[in-house]
Amino acid sequence: TSREEKHEFKAEVSALLRLVTNSLYTNREIFLRELVSNASDALDKARFQGLTDTSLRDRQEKPQIKISADHVRGVLTIEDTGVGMTRDEIALNLGTIAHSGTLKFLEKARAQQDSGQKPDLNLIGQFGVGFYSAFMVADRIEVTSLSAAEGAEPVHWTSAGDGTYSVGPGERTTRGTTIELHLKPDAKEFLDRWKIEGIIKRYSNYVVHPILLKVVDDKGATEVDGKQVNDATAFWMRPARELGDADYNEFYKHVMGGFVLPGDEPLGHLHLHADAPIQFVALLYVPGKPPADLFQEDRKALQLFARRVVVMESCDKLLPGYLRFVRGVVDSEDLPLNVSREMLQEHNALTSIRRQLTRKVLKLLEGIAKDKPETYEQIWANYGAVLKEGIHTDSTHHDDLVELLRYRSSDGDKPVSLAQYVEAMPEGQPAIYYITGESMAAVARSPHLEACRARGYQVLFMADPIDEWVVQDLSEYKGKQLVSVTQGDLDIPEDKDHQHDPGAIAAAVDKSKELLTDKVKDVRVSKRLRESAACLVDDSGGLSRNMERILKMARQ
Ligand code: ADP
Ligand code: MG
Repeated sequence: TSREEKHEFKAEVSALLRLVTNSLYTNREIFLRELVSNASDALDKARFQGLTDTSLRDRQEKPQIKISADHVRGVLTIEDTGVGMTRDEIALNLGTIAHSGTLKFLEKARAQQDSGQKPDLNLIGQFGVGFYSAFMVADRIEVTSLSAAEGAEPVHWTSAGDGTYSVGPGERTTRGTTIELHLKPDAKEFLDRWKIEGIIKRYSNYVVHPILLKVVDDKGATEVDGKQVNDATAFWMRPARELGDADYNEFYKHVMGGFVLPGDEPLGHLHLHADAPIQFVALLYVPGKPPADLFQEDRKALQLFARRVVVMESCDKLLPGYLRFVRGVVDSEDLPLNVSREMLQEHNALTSIRRQLTRKVLKLLEGIAKDKPETYEQIWANYGAVLKEGIHTDSTHHDDLVELLRYRSSDGDKPVSLAQYVEAMPEGQPAIYYITGESMAAVARSPHLEACRARGYQVLFMADPIDEWVVQDLSEYKGKQLVSVTQGDLDIPEDKDHQHDPGAIAAAVDKSKELLTDKVKDVRVSKRLRESAACLVDDSGGLSRNMERILKMARQ
């Protein structure tokens, strides 16, 4: 395997490359962010592996990323001292698409193409499509890599992004990877010193490894060499009192992979420096826009660091499922680096961090609900359905979660809390009334509301499937029972100014029973109606009709 070999890309890679190389784009500078982020990942991996694996090559190597712009050759080089790749790894990593974000991007772009639209390459920034984005600016890419693994040989990979790539022996004496981009004639701007600095500042300022810049001008003279162009400090380690909203919003972009549309800024953040029982720092955000993977199994979670080294890209053990919309970083001094990631998942420190974070995030939400009700309305609109899961799954924080609930009601569009509901109850109202159903429109026009309307009682509208579970776990609030207005024998005080003729009603009931004998269980006189003549009610002991509907849907 020491020869040069030519290979074809897997079909999906070819499709992606065609798309990347043949489309118009306005945001192609993100290629640099992707390559820097790969270099940074490779450095993290090297640091992580070096802690336990004493056979690892060049354990003393300084972690750094070097960007060199050569105007004479028209080549932009990104070099790192990370783990590198073996020949097999390079063929696998750069010849196939493993990353799900890339596949999703491709699917979306293809769908746009199929429907006659021009694929929107700006989307590329949202998906983190990685290495291949470099073909937006390069007509040939050369990768030279030496793996940190014991006994690995240096390897060289090259492609013009045209469907094939070649792999053969390379030249490199220390571990790491060099990526040379032969820039397209219309992409020479990416050799410009200020352009590069600007892009790094915009997208990669918080990469924790130093990024050094070298520029050689078109006469072969060195313009700058070794200048560090990023901050390279862990943003979250800085004291909260030194930071303003603008700083937090800036770092949020980094957390979200560099792409945040105006208007999608975070709805809240939590910056916590904890010392006991476990030392850790957390910087968490409530995203302004619900993450696309909120209801997916393989969604992203918080990033976990141990002493500034990434130990897990996505750790779902740091917050309960009902807070999975929260994004950010957690960094602890008390986590072992030298255990497997599986063991880390079970580590006691994580349990303790999770306990504290859960409490603090709930506090954060309570605080926003109190001080910025409009922001909280947005949070509730985005994540209410997720938060409600907690009512069912987390009995420890039941009381906090109940206070976070908001429902629209028969009193208008504004969502109310249970506290507000109880506060507004008229004298003599015995219970908290609610109605569940399949949509807001359906519950809002239900005849079941009439009894409460007539008495001036507010009814909470519950149109989310999960609300059926919420009310099961929430039988009462502050001593007031929650009662469904669709339940059979609705116990509600007499409506005094309602006149009726008992004889006529008894006759109507008998006739209805006769006609509906095999359709309903019983026909009863009710105090609940005012305008309507009759309505269907749920059996008191049985499932609500809405619940039956949901279960039926789930079974299909
Ligand atoms: P992603 O980073 O999302 O996995 P990329 O397309 O950016 O996707 O990179 C594909 C893979 O190639 C990476 O997962 C990594 O294994 C490998 N890779 C890319 N760049 C480097 C590098 N500089 N050093 C080591 N491995 C790299
Ligand atoms: Mg990548």
